[in-house]
Amino acid sequence: MSLEGKVAIVTGGAGEIGAAAVRRLVAMGARVAIFDRDPDALKTMAAELGDKVSTHTCDVTDEAGMKSAIDAAAAHHGRLDIGVLNAGIPHERKPIQDLDMAVFDKVMAVNVRGVMLGLKYLFPHLKKVGGGSIVITASTESLRGNEGIVGYTASKHAVVGLCKTAALEWARHNIRVNCVNPGPCDTPLLRSVEEIMTKKGVANVREKSVAIIPMKRLARTEEVANFIGFLASDQASYSTGGTYLLDGGMLAGKQALE
Ligand code: NAD
Repeated sequence: MSLEGKVAIVTGGAGEIGAAAVRRLVAMGARVAIFDRDPDALKTMAAELGDKVSTHTCDVTDEAGMKSAIDAAAAHHGRLDIGVLNAGIPHERKPIQDLDMAVFDKVMAVNVRGVMLGLKYLFPHLKKVGGGSIVITASTESLRGNEGIVGYTASKHAVVGLCKTAALEWARHNIRVNCVNPGPCDTPLLRSVEEIMTKKGVANVREKSVAIIPMKRLARTEEVANFIGFLASDQASYSTGGTYLLDGGMLAGKQALE
């Protein structure tokens, strides 16, 4: 599963799943351009990983910014082979009729437009080197409805559409595109959702999440990163247009949170 000589970009690469993916890709031999909107977190990643990585402060929703950051990463490292389109945000739990459209639009912008821009501007670089692999971090919410988080759920369904369409359009260019669909993973994103639910009076939020997972624990970021590394590598050479569950068996059985 070597990625020696390959170069990846990872969006949201200073967040928890993203950082785990960066570490995994570096451990497999790749150099990585880390994209994030948080410059301080990027500095910490650069201090940890040294010249194996470059850091790029950018907002994935900004078309000109994404194009120039992707081009700058390619210029810095000499090529691009892999894209991990991972940046994403949750939103507070509200029924559809009460959800502020600004909240909906923001989630769609980061989670869907951000992935679309990554696909669009990575393509010429991957084509230039004869192919590559793109992995999108979707979610179990790309495969089911979930009451109260319509924006997040719709955004994760949408990225599966982007993934499948890109897989069809780019198979002829030897570019594979897949989604990983993690279930709840103990990261700031999940903790922010749990905090909001607790404030709203929902008791034992974490216990309830774990109770519906057959393996009785949350995903670990390294487990998601291992799968991303596999899909990025030539070991997954016949996989494209796929959606891969990493959910401890959650969607094999009971689906509702409460
Ligand atoms: P996180 O909050 O730790 O990381 C997200 C990162 O994205 C942060 O570093 C943040 O600064 C960055 N980011 C957010 N908006 C951005 C923007 N506009 N431009 C650039 N960077 C931006 O969250 P995480 O849990 O690591 O989530 C990563 C991905 O995994 C997301 O797409 C999320 O939807 C998905 N996911 C998470 C879970 C979970 O339980 N944590 C489960 C399934 C899927």
